[in-house]
Amino acid sequence: MFRTIKLKLPYDRILIETAKQFKEAAQIVLDYGFENKTFNKNKLNKGTYRSVRERIPTLPSALIQTARDTASEALKATELKKKIKRKSLTIRYDNRTFKFYPDSHTVSLTTVQGRLVYPVAHSPLIDKYKGEYTNAQLVIDEKRNRIFIMVQVNVPDKEVVKKEDVKVLGIDRGVKNIVVLSNNVFFNSKHVREVKGRYQYLKRKLKHLGTRSAHRKLKKLSGRERRFVRDVNHVISKNIVSLPCDVFALEALNPAYMKQKDQYKAIRKMLGSWSPSELQKFIEYKAKDAGKTIIYVNPKYTSQRCSKCCYVDKNNRYGSVFKCQNCGFELNADLNASRNIEVLGRSEYFRLMSTSQSLRFNESPLTGGVENSNKLRSFSEE
Ligand SMILES: [Zn+2]
Repeated sequence: MFRTIKLKLPYDRILIETAKQFKEAAQIVLDYGFENKTFNKNKLNKGTYRSVRERIPTLPSALIQTARDTASEALKATELKKKIKRKSLTIRYDNRTFKFYPDSHTVSLTTVQGRLVYPVAHSPLIDKYKGEYTNAQLVIDEKRNRIFIMVQVNVPDKEVVKKEDVKVLGIDRGVKNIVVLSNNVFFNSKHVREVKGRYQYLKRKLKHLGTRSAHRKLKKLSGRERRFVRDVNHVISKNIVSLPCDVFALEALNPAYMKQKDQYKAIRKMLGSWSPSELQKFIEYKAKDAGKTIIYVNPKYTSQRCSKCCYVDKNNRYGSVFKCQNCGFELNADLNASRNIEVLGRSEYFRLMSTSQSLRFNESPLTGGVENSNKLRSFSEE
């Protein structure tokens, strides 16, 4: 991620003269671009290079180029609609015209007197943000007799989010166990199945009676059953989200896929109206309230893949037992699946983190202060 370090430089007349010439060069390009209605860098170069060289012979050509780039961007930003008068006394530096030495607290800059080295005032940010020093902006404040340089640092991502510090929990939903977590926690469905079974038995009996009072009782019973399911889902989701994890990984519940996956067929058959999507909804909003992240992963092969050696085989699973045909690893089948979900969730989380970060960096050059986002897009199936 990008950070900006603001450093004080000595108030030096060579830097001021360089900034004045830079400003003049940029102004020539601004006027030319406005008159000729172009912000195209090649056209601006062809149209102005000679006159800039003649009028400002001491400005190094690398700075003429950055002055032209700055002007081109300003012309583009105003869509050539108004004449621009450059006011600020600033210089844009890039990797050809500046180098920052954090250890010796010095910076080398291209100036009208050639390349010069300047000391910079100490700042705690020099030690805090180390990385690649990509760009810089020199700012001259003539009113207060001050010169600053804003150095942009590309701090490696790992300094912000350490992969091993992010705790990911894989959540597998099943029949015998409502959920199994990759940290070896099981939420058994025995009690739920018993209660659901009782309700189903009573409902069948009442339906068979067919009287009006039986119909009323049936309605009441269905409401009670729904509340029971909801309460169980509330308790489970609360338990899961309160665990010390940052990211919760679940299988993406695609309705078409659920129809063909045995696991979900069995859930519906054995648990009746039990809905894994309600539990998911509860986990989702409780995690959001707690500032945690939910990641959805592709459910393909999560029950067939060995969580130890990654070997995928239909025969790896016999009911509730997982035994790898390749490495012989044995484990509870749901636990094995939850561990696969954790691994997939972790890689998906970091993939989304890196894409959302690079997008943001491209949008905000030299502004600094970009924070991490935990608003991640959820996984979509192919
Ligand atoms: Zn294996």
